[in-house]
Amino acid sequence: MAQHLNGVAPGSTATLTKPALELKDIDASYGTTAVLRKVSLKVEPAAVTALIGPNGAGKTTSLRVASGLMKPTGGTVLLDGEDITSTGPARRAKRGMCHVPEGRGIYRNLTVKENLLMQANELSAQESIELATSVFPRLGERLSQKAGTLSGGEQQMLALSAAYVASPRLVLVDEPSLGLAPIIVDVVFEFLETLRDKGVALLLVDQYALRTLSIADQAYVLRRGEVVYGGDAKTLLEGNMFEQYIGEAS
Ligand code: ATP
Repeated sequence: MAQHLNGVAPGSTATLTKPALELKDIDASYGTTAVLRKVSLKVEPAAVTALIGPNGAGKTTSLRVASGLMKPTGGTVLLDGEDITSTGPARRAKRGMCHVPEGRGIYRNLTVKENLLMQANELSAQESIELATSVFPRLGERLSQKAGTLSGGEQQMLALSAAYVASPRLVLVDEPSLGLAPIIVDVVFEFLETLRDKGVALLLVDQYALRTLSIADQAYVLRRGEVVYGGDAKTLLEGNMFEQYIGEAS
C-alpha cells in the first residue's frame, strides 16, 4: 500500500503551490503488456523528486509518458496544473519541459558546438556556448569535436547542458550517472543541485538510490508498474523503510 501518495509531506507549504508536473492515474502499455498501473506522482517546483525502483519497474516509461514520447492508455498528465495529456513532446518542450533521456540524447554526428546550438532555443550561439561552458568548462575545450567521440562523462555533460541552456522549468533526467566514473558522477549530482537551486523542478531516475535520495525532497518507489511509496525522501532513508522499499526491491 502506498504511503503519502500525494507526494507532499504533511504540513508542507508545497501544498500551496501547483505541482510543476503531475501524473494522475497513469496506465501505459507496450502492445498488450501493461507496464504502468494507476501511477500517480507530483513534482514540486524548485525541488528534486526521485523516482526509484528495480529494473523494469517502469521508471523510464513514466518519464516517457511525462515528456510526451509515449501516450498513456489512461490517466492525465498536468503541467503547472494544466492538462497536457494530448500534447506532443515538442509543445511540452516549448512550455518549459526538458527530457534528458537514458543514453544521453545527443546528436553523435554533430560537433559539441552544433549540439549546443540545437539546445539553444531563442538564445544566440555565443550565449548558449557561454552558458554551457560556465557549468561544464570541459565542453569549452571540445567545441569542434564530434559528440560521438567524447568520453561518456563529456557526453553526459553535453546532454545535461540542455537542462541549463534551454532554461526549462521542469527537467526529467533518466539515469544520468549510468556508466560514469565516480568523479564525474559527483559533477553530475552537483549540477542537478545547481539546477534545483535555480528554481527548476527535477524528476530524477538514477541507479544510485541512496545518493539520489540524499539530494531529493520527495521520492516515489515504483515496483512492477505501481507506486508502492510516495512521500518525503529523507523519511525513506529512516528506520527500516529503505530496506523495506528499496533493499528488497533492488
Ligand atoms: P530499467 O532500470 O531497467 O531501465 P525501468 O524501471 O526504467 O527499468 P522501463 O524501461 O520503463 O523500466 O520498462 C518497464 C517494462 O516495460 C519492462 O518490463 C520492460 O521490459 C518493458 N519495456 C520497456 N520498453 C519496452 C519496449 N520498447 N517494448 C516492449 N516492452 C518494453
